[in-house]
Amino acid sequence: MTAVPNTSTQEYTTERSFQPIWVALLLGVLGATLNTFTFPFLPEVELILGNAMVIIAAMCLKPQWALLTALMTATPLYFTWGHPFAFLTFGLEALTIAYLRGRGVYVLFADIAYWCVIGMPLTGLIVWLGVDQGTVYWLFIALKQGFNAIIYGTIGCLIAFLLSDRLNASWSQQPPLKRKLKHQLNYAIVLMTTMALTSTTLFISRDLIVKAQNIIETTLEDRSEKFAEMIDISLKNQKSAIALAAQWLSAVPASQWQTSLEQVHQSYSGFITMLITNSNADVIHASPQHLLSLSGDMNVADRDYFQQAMLTQSLYMSPVFKGRGFGTDTIVAISTPIFDVRQPTNALGIVEGSVDLSFIGRLTQAKLGAETLKVVVTDQHDNIIYAHPSLNLEPLYLFDVQRVVDSSIQDRLIVETLPNKQFAYAQSTASSGWKVYTLVDYQLTIREIEREYLVIFFSLMLTLLLTSLIAHRFGSRITRPLRFIMKQVNKYDNKAITEFTPLYQVAAIEIEQLYEELKSNKRSVKEHQQQLEIKVQERTQELNQANQQLKAQARIDGLTKVYNRHYLDSHFELMQKAAQRSDANMAVVMLDLDHFKRLNDTYGHLTGDKVLVAVAALIRQAFSRETDIVARFGGEEFVIVAPYISPVALTDKLEALRCSIAALAVTDASGNTINTSSSFGAVIAQAKFAVNIVDWVKVADACLYQAKDNGRNRVVIRDRTVADDTSS
Ligand code: GH3
Ligand code: MG
Ligand code: MG
Repeated sequence: MTAVPNTSTQEYTTERSFQPIWVALLLGVLGATLNTFTFPFLPEVELILGNAMVIIAAMCLKPQWALLTALMTATPLYFTWGHPFAFLTFGLEALTIAYLRGRGVYVLFADIAYWCVIGMPLTGLIVWLGVDQGTVYWLFIALKQGFNAIIYGTIGCLIAFLLSDRLNASWSQQPPLKRKLKHQLNYAIVLMTTMALTSTTLFISRDLIVKAQNIIETTLEDRSEKFAEMIDISLKNQKSAIALAAQWLSAVPASQWQTSLEQVHQSYSGFITMLITNSNADVIHASPQHLLSLSGDMNVADRDYFQQAMLTQSLYMSPVFKGRGFGTDTIVAISTPIFDVRQPTNALGIVEGSVDLSFIGRLTQAKLGAETLKVVVTDQHDNIIYAHPSLNLEPLYLFDVQRVVDSSIQDRLIVETLPNKQFAYAQSTASSGWKVYTLVDYQLTIREIEREYLVIFFSLMLTLLLTSLIAHRFGSRITRPLRFIMKQVNKYDNKAITEFTPLYQVAAIEIEQLYEELKSNKRSVKEHQQQLEIKVQERTQELNQANQQLKAQARIDGLTKVYNRHYLDSHFELMQKAAQRSDANMAVVMLDLDHFKRLNDTYGHLTGDKVLVAVAALIRQAFSRETDIVARFGGEEFVIVAPYISPVALTDKLEALRCSIAALAVTDASGNTINTSSSFGAVIAQAKFAVNIVDWVKVADACLYQAKDNGRNRVVIRDRTVADDTSS
């Protein structure tokens, strides 16, 4: 992912109307309030929802403010958990994700990354080091925290997503996330998937786990009750055996006691040994009989089973004790007095059976899944009668346990001699006062949840990866045709292509429509452009023509088509200088039509114009050299500038012109033939005579006056090429 350059931060800080500290405090108070109530969700799992506020804080505040929110939010957890490690993991979380958000990373992705890389390993390590309940749970608790983070992370992001207009408000310190479409799609899809997946799988697994735990719990209870019952039945049998034996013994003569005892013992294999004492507690008979000879004289006056049976005159079952005399087995003795049949209050002695406790081991073999149920049976004084061999608990010792009661989890047992283990357990009391404990390693339950978590976690990660890929592909499906269209339009605009390439792949209908629309728009724009270009060309041509016309109009007299006075004034100097450089002569002639006013008056102005045009044409004919200038000076007056000409040639030419004008016959509309004549005043000199046309015209004008004065229709030339003036 590429970071968005953080250029516009200034804008966001200047416009802000809220101080970030207030936002951080508000979110912190909200988060702490939510965290005061944890929501039991799974056995062993409480949802910590307050941290969603930290996510929101990181989304719009700088790391230091997000940290403030996180520390406030973690405070209630410090009291519930009893250790400060929430400050560390959640504080680091806030710093990391706010920092990454500032670098343009989506907060949800930043949070997942944080928990995978830092949060979960750190939590695991802290638990491992013994801050929490013991090393066995490190994986479980780390996974649980990671999971929780994903849940409150998605909740925070969803809240932010729904409130996005407000969160982008003026108090946000974080730069806006401007992203390509496919990244936005990716984010939205991942957010949805995470939410859907975590919530559904959690609800489902919650059921599964609760069920699994219930099964464990009920199995444990069932078993313990059953075992208690079975033990009761066994003991009852033993007791009735002893009772029966006593009755029988009292009925037969004392000489038959030994054989009777042996017979009873044979039919009740549950006793290791049996014995009969006299009223002085001397053991007089035993089964097997050879024990008697092994132990020699034996008196059991100090034994409970003798004292109690004699004292209460009834059946007695002893607590567990270590045998003596007949071996050192751990035994429970059942005894009862033997009464004299003739004198029922007189106890002749007792009959006793030592219960072989190994039957408990045989009775209580059971499994819970793959695990062997561990059974512990204690007597009424909590001394161990039987313990599953794997527990390594010695009989006779006190079964010293500590009950761990927890509202959210099933109760557990810690056996004092096995401090690192906890057991899920059930306990039943048999009618004899014996307690039957069924135990199973608590980790069995935890392992179930752990496995569940691992499966959910990895399937979540896998799904996220897959959805990410799909979102990417999906985004490309939209953006690739768009990019293609943009490229085509650009090429078309830059005239690299003249026709659009059709969309090469299947695109959304809207995009195809957009392309069609764009194409037809671009085509009509191009057409329009071409038409415009043609029009502009036409107009330019027209303008050029008009310009040329204007230029010509600026130089040429409209009526007579000879040069106008402006042209004469501006070009005279050029001609004069050129002639001067060549040391040439130059002539300036003034020509005025005679009595033109009268002509106008007689035939009208239009006819006058016609005459003017005809005269001008004659003058042009006469002075047709490229270097000659014939110009209309005003009214019916013309000026001729003729360089490179000799006085003689000038005279000849003017005379010839005068004659041709005089000979001119113009016919007017009414069929009248009109004649006219003209007077000429001319000056010829070396070009250097004068630079200014005014000086030349002055002299020529004077000659013209002279010609008019002399009777018109004549030529007067002043030749300045030589020293003295000559005129003709
Ligand atoms: P003169 O022999 O002394 O030159 O007499 P004139 O009548 O030609 O002299 P004047 O200068 O008094 O008159 C010139 C006349 O030329 C006056 C005007 O009506 C006429 N005129 C000037 N320009 C034009 C023109 O463009 N067309 C026509 N038809 N007449 C013009
Ligand atoms: Mg005139
Ligand atoms: Mg005139």
